[in-house]
Amino acid sequence: MSVRTRFAPSPTGYLHIGGVRTALFSWLYARKHGGTFILRIEDTDLERSSIESVNAILEGMTWLGLEYDEGPFLQSDRLPRYREVAQQLLDEGKAYRCYCSREHLETLRNAQMANKEKPRYDGHCRNLFQNNDGGHAGPTDVAHVIRFKNPVDGEVVVEDQVRGRVVFGNGELDDLVIVRTDGMPTYNFAVVVDDSDMQVTHVIRGDDHLNNTPRQINILKVLGAQPPMYAHVPMILGEDGARLSKRHGAVSVMQYREEGFLPEALLNYLVRLGWSHGNKEIFSVDEMIELFDSNDVNNSASTFNPGKLIWLNQHYIKTSEAAHVAHHLSWHMGRLGVDPATGPSLVEVVEAQRERAKTLVEMAQNSVIFYREFEDYDAKAATKHLKPEIAPALTDLRTCFAALSEWGSEAIHQAVMDVAQIHDMKMGKLAQPLRVALCGTDVSPPIDVTVRLIGRERTLQRMDRALKHIEGC
Ligand code: GLU
Repeated sequence: MSVRTRFAPSPTGYLHIGGVRTALFSWLYARKHGGTFILRIEDTDLERSSIESVNAILEGMTWLGLEYDEGPFLQSDRLPRYREVAQQLLDEGKAYRCYCSREHLETLRNAQMANKEKPRYDGHCRNLFQNNDGGHAGPTDVAHVIRFKNPVDGEVVVEDQVRGRVVFGNGELDDLVIVRTDGMPTYNFAVVVDDSDMQVTHVIRGDDHLNNTPRQINILKVLGAQPPMYAHVPMILGEDGARLSKRHGAVSVMQYREEGFLPEALLNYLVRLGWSHGNKEIFSVDEMIELFDSNDVNNSASTFNPGKLIWLNQHYIKTSEAAHVAHHLSWHMGRLGVDPATGPSLVEVVEAQRERAKTLVEMAQNSVIFYREFEDYDAKAATKHLKPEIAPALTDLRTCFAALSEWGSEAIHQAVMDVAQIHDMKMGKLAQPLRVALCGTDVSPPIDVTVRLIGRERTLQRMDRALKHIEGC
């Protein structure tokens, strides 16, 4: 049997990181078993679904590198198929049209609540309008929903890979609406038709869907389909123990991109939320594929820990291929209005900055000086370092820089050392004023690297600007 998994988000907002974790687990499981990963957009709730959300899902999946082998399938493109299956169930007497009015259902519900009973449909229309073959033959031109005839007795056993064996009594389940009055399929029905048509073998999803599973299994059975394996993953909590939501920080995947995270840091973080492999914390994507198993997913909720995500991000910024980090940095430079073609290669910038950045946002902000003139000196740094007594050494250094035959870190370093020596000062005493002259602040990567990356022309211009500034003091 070839493994087929799917990620089935509803496009009703941003791509939530809780959803991404189940997408990642499904993707890893398919990759590990050489199977197929399907993306299915569950957009039958037309009022809440939007094309912007569909795009956010696709964008998020692409950014994370969770490539799908089939899809994206839109449920809204499959409405005729759901109608066909609903008709088949009606013809076979496995579903029926229900004409109960909203008022009737409301009265029923209120009475059940008053009796402290669980509200459920009473089966009023279940056996009306049966034809001789046992099929349903009720009128189609009177407002109705279609309900599934749930078995009245017996049990549904879910052998969940995370939760273990979970047993539901059919007596607990009423006759589920599978098609609404407006003809749209309900979530449980569309999922079943799709999981069956798409031959999904493993469903990995949030445990908020566990209670839907017996209903889905019952419908799958009457369709003659083999129910998939289920793995219901516990939810993610914020540090205060409440379900992870906006008030705990970012929950949208793209917000993590905007905040300067590398996709592999987020993936590594998410894979460890609820799954572990010994004490190991760092997992490359290949290692995740090799080691992940849905049977090892923890069955208690996991807590989101922003500090750990930052730690992982720093790790990946420091250790990933510089070209890879540069690729992602380029997006952040663009957001700051910087065209990376107007300065040093981003790979060199990454190499210079990677030890001191927690996020790519920080790295980008600290790298703008390589591409664009800064506006004002940091007042404290300028007062401390751009003093008249430094002007002669800075002037000599400018001459030296202008004359360098080769613009390399070593030659730059040597020039700063030589000029400092001539002026009888320690190298740092010259390097700091130079740094303020070039960056406007007294923090930057090592001075020789900073000077090299800023480039000769900009370096000389900025030294002139600093000398003028000193003159004006
Ligand atoms: N559309 C459902 C959701 O976003 C998918 C549930 C499932 O995977 O079956 O929660």
